[in-house]
Amino acid sequence: MIYTETPLPYAYNALEPHIDSATVEIHHDKHQKAYLDKLNAALAYSDDFDAPDSLADLISNMWAVPEDIKLAVRNNGGAVFNHVFFWEGLSPIKPMIKFDLASAFERDFGSVETFKEEFSKQALNFFGSGWLWLCKDTQGYLKIIATKNQDTPLMRELFIKELIPLLCLDLWEHSYYLKYQNRRAEYIEAFWHIVNWEKVSERYLPI
Ligand code: MN
Repeated sequence: MIYTETPLPYAYNALEPHIDSATVEIHHDKHQKAYLDKLNAALAYSDDFDAPDSLADLISNMWAVPEDIKLAVRNNGGAVFNHVFFWEGLSPIKPMIKFDLASAFERDFGSVETFKEEFSKQALNFFGSGWLWLCKDTQGYLKIIATKNQDTPLMRELFIKELIPLLCLDLWEHSYYLKYQNRRAEYIEAFWHIVNWEKVSERYLPI
């Protein structure tokens, strides 16, 4: 099984000025591509393991991955999934949050604004490299969770509950350093201008 590159859903400069064109290009074409190449190299190394067609299936079932390539698949497979999910969750056109998700924010955080404040606070305080996620549990309740390195909510053995990811923010420095350097708070603030709420609302349904 060879996993293929997923093109960006928009042009490199589509997220300007919030995420600059050079950052998007290097992030997608160099960082993400390197993770994909390393994933495929690890899978090629293990002759007798037949990886599933879906990358999500692969990383949701890490127990099935042979020990000698497990760490490489965890890091690089997680990275490829996370990046594709990240780009899909962004949009230059500022769609609205749909009703059901807006109601869930009110129920679980008080309001969309309170959710954003809490998410921003956790993103700012996250130590090291990783990701911050908005997820829903199997009952449809919203949760904010962080994953280290390139781990993802799909790696169920890491979490007590099954979690379905809705939105993520890349907190690796490569995702913002060219434009924002050490000013992570500005990158987080910029993120809220380009969230694809239509996609996030779609991921929220059906419960
Ligand atoms: Mn990244």
